[in-house]
Amino acid sequence: MRVLRVALEVPVAKLFDYLCDASVLAEVGDRVVVPFGSRERVGVVVDAVDGSSVASARLKDVTRVLEGAPRLPADWLEQMRFLAAYYQRPFGETVAGALPPRLRSLKALPKRKPPIEGDPGEPARFVAGPAPNEAQRQAIERIRAAFGSFRTFLLHGITGSGKTEVYLRLIAEVVARRQQALVLVPEIGLTPQLEARFRHAFPQARIAMLHSALEDTARTHAWLDAARGEAQIVLGTRLAVLTPMAKLGLVAVDEEHDPSFKQQEGLRYSARDAAIQRAKLAGCPVVLGSATPSLETWQNARAGRYELLPLPERAVPGAKLPTVRLVDLRNESAEHGLAPSVVEAVRARLAGGEQSLVFINRRGYAPVLACDACGWAAGCSRCSARLVLHSADRRLRCHHCGAEEPVPRACPTCGNVDLRPHGRGTQRIEEALAGIFPEARILRIDRDSARKRGELARTLAGVSRGEGDILVGTQLLAKGHDFPNLTLVCVLNADSALLSTDYRSAERLFATLQQVGGRSGRREQPGEVLVQTRFPGHPMYQALMRHDFAGFAASQLAEREAAGFPPFVFEAALRAEAKRLADTMAFLKAAARLVPVPESVKVYDPVPHVITRRAGYERAQLVVQSHSRPALQAFLAEWNAALPAAAPRGIRWHLDVDPIEFD
Ligand SMILES: [Zn+2]
Ligand SMILES: [Zn+2]
Repeated sequence: MRVLRVALEVPVAKLFDYLCDASVLAEVGDRVVVPFGSRERVGVVVDAVDGSSVASARLKDVTRVLEGAPRLPADWLEQMRFLAAYYQRPFGETVAGALPPRLRSLKALPKRKPPIEGDPGEPARFVAGPAPNEAQRQAIERIRAAFGSFRTFLLHGITGSGKTEVYLRLIAEVVARRQQALVLVPEIGLTPQLEARFRHAFPQARIAMLHSALEDTARTHAWLDAARGEAQIVLGTRLAVLTPMAKLGLVAVDEEHDPSFKQQEGLRYSARDAAIQRAKLAGCPVVLGSATPSLETWQNARAGRYELLPLPERAVPGAKLPTVRLVDLRNESAEHGLAPSVVEAVRARLAGGEQSLVFINRRGYAPVLACDACGWAAGCSRCSARLVLHSADRRLRCHHCGAEEPVPRACPTCGNVDLRPHGRGTQRIEEALAGIFPEARILRIDRDSARKRGELARTLAGVSRGEGDILVGTQLLAKGHDFPNLTLVCVLNADSALLSTDYRSAERLFATLQQVGGRSGRREQPGEVLVQTRFPGHPMYQALMRHDFAGFAASQLAEREAAGFPPFVFEAALRAEAKRLADTMAFLKAAARLVPVPESVKVYDPVPHVITRRAGYERAQLVVQSHSRPALQAFLAEWNAALPAAAPRGIRWHLDVDPIEFD
């Protein structure tokens, strides 16, 4: 008796057995419609076996096979199996979550797109950029030598060193070999320049763009192009790593350190780690690129598991890394958040017709609205967090749950009508700069100014053409944009990250500051970065001034090793939330004792989150550590199987393997 095992999108870790009529002819990898309960569902056949533990009289037949998409290949199913097991998610949910919504619905697929114009026999036509320098050439040479086999490379290139040109030249060869290249980037909505660059370099190739902001039909088309092997290049955000590709020949992960490669809900996978796994299954090289690699990756390179390929120079001849200067706030008092030397530096750029960027990683007008008479401060009723004042529409907004309310006329506690904003966000800095430089064109760029789709891309393109004298912005400005006329970057509130309890905050701050600083002086004019700080002696700032990533990483890794943090141990977090903190803590305490803990695994005590209440739920977590990944995995599998039955009603919980967020 031939039985098909079908993965369905249900929150239980099991497969469902079905029979298959000779007229239906379903095979492993097919998307099928099956009866489930009182309705029909779409599933994926993941196995075909002889016999079932279910009585044959109770087995139902597969209704039909869904047409229009290629059969899901064995290596893809293997990847899903690995991800489900590693991240402790039901296989059915993992498979379903990896498919675009249209492919897991009963709706018909869109009609196949006609082939693109031009000669389809020449997709490999490549418009090369400037000739590579010696370091780029060597990197290309090393990676090319690994074509056809699995190997992991770390392309460690300073900002502006021409990593993209290395990818493009390798991709040209992959396409010429009639294979496919997969390129992952952190946030595609922010990198229209990258897409344009790829389309310019490969005018006749089919490029499939894949990211979550795509509307349904476009995403389905891109996915099908990739799966059929028709798209030579797949360019996308983390979810693109879950796309089947028939002829994968190269994987590249740009800005591999970026936290957005880790999914924070559902299947909490790291797209970077999944990309390495993917390359392994496909037997092809994978290139991780970054100016500031994650410490995990850097440690793997130090240990020889990854091959390190340095790009130590800027690609444009004569372009130098910016000079980093610290503005000591203990000697200079900042007015409106801006130190006098920062104001003077901006004034000099204005006079010279060059652009300045003022970076402050906090949007809104002020992070706190308070009453100085009684000490009241506006807080969110659903979160243990302050409300942020937004000046344009006079609203208070919670940046954790999205709640908002009008600014009160008077203090709700004492009636004082003189409520004051404390601290600064982008809007307040914009206002201060407008007061100091009334003649300057000031552009604010943050999530509030770029709400509409495409608006950010338009603004950034304008900045590249020289629009705007002073840019005020958040992290949104930091990533990958090329602003030729920008020669000054001022960083206002970097210190706050150094005071964080998260052991990764120094690593993140270093990466952000390198990235922001790297926006300046990418052409002939030298760039300058000014960092306002009260801790000029901090090793992080000292390393930043020397552009010394290796030194910074070495000191961070030594600290991590001494403290027993990743990458020297492996971690998972069990997070829970309930309406009352006592319930959350009770569940986590019980969970810690639920299954026997082997000696090689350590289960820590549960701890409430720093922002304990969010959207009305009280949150806490406990961390599990081991020096052995297999030991941790074995423990997690047993634990995860026992947890559902142990969770009382009203508790929401999840496991996060290799967690990166602890706030
Ligand atoms: Zn008051
Ligand atoms: Zn809130």
